[in-house]
Amino acid sequence: MNNCGLCHRLDNIATDTALVHEFENSYLLLGNHQYFRGYCVLLYKRHVRELHELDCNMQTALNHELMLATQAVVKAFEPWKINHACLGNRDQHIHWHIIPRYETEADHQYDPWRHADEFDKWTISDSQKQELIALIQKHIA
Ligand SMILES: [Zn+2]
Repeated sequence: MNNCGLCHRLDNIATDTALVHEFENSYLLLGNHQYFRGYCVLLYKRHVRELHELDCNMQTALNHELMLATQAVVKAFEPWKINHACLGNRDQHIHWHIIPRYETEADHQYDPWRHADEFDKWTISDSQKQELIALIQKHIA
């Protein structure tokens, strides 16, 4: 048992209220805030620290799942732009942030972390989560 927060989340994924979809190699989860409407996270099923540590076939498979997830988010929310981020400095377990951006944001031309100190104000209730999740699920191939 490691002390990775994302592995712990995987242990309880079946009852995770943010679960949108299970792919073969990853889970799509609604983001823990909705500062950006439709913000999601794609979480790799195995504890691997870096994308380049995956073999080539898995890199391709995971990228395909990222694209399917992104296409669903785009169809559901029709954002102006999509930002993808794979950082993992805090949670060192491969995951992608899928961040819909909207032209109505004052700082839409900047990176998505510019207002990170406000994200906590944009958490939503479980029933609001279920509405957004249903919107995305309608578009998952
Ligand atoms: Zn992990």
